[in-house]
Amino acid sequence: MAFVITSPCEQEKAGECVEVCPVDCIEEGKDMFYIDPDICIDCGACEAVCPVEAIFMEDEVPEGEHEYIALNRKFFQEN
Ligand code: SF4
Ligand code: SF4
Repeated sequence: MAFVITSPCEQEKAGECVEVCPVDCIEEGKDMFYIDPDICIDCGACEAVCPVEAIFMEDEVPEGEHEYIALNRKFFQEN
């Protein structure tokens, strides 16, 4: 399990989450930020600071946002 960044980040992208992550597993992509699911320790610190509520536990990602679970993982496979 890991936390996942979803579509609201695409318009916001201010990076508050990066500042608070204790394991430095959030990286900036072209359109949004992504969480590396293999490094995330599920602490929830990022979720608490995101101003647009873009971050969810993997099993709590809302309907219509499920593609972001794979998109977060894919970003770290390609970069
Ligand atoms: S805090 Fe939220 S909106 Fe800001 S970069 Fe992180 S996920 Fe995106
Ligand atoms: S839940 Fe914690 S470890 Fe995972 S990305 Fe957010 S701040 Fe980093």
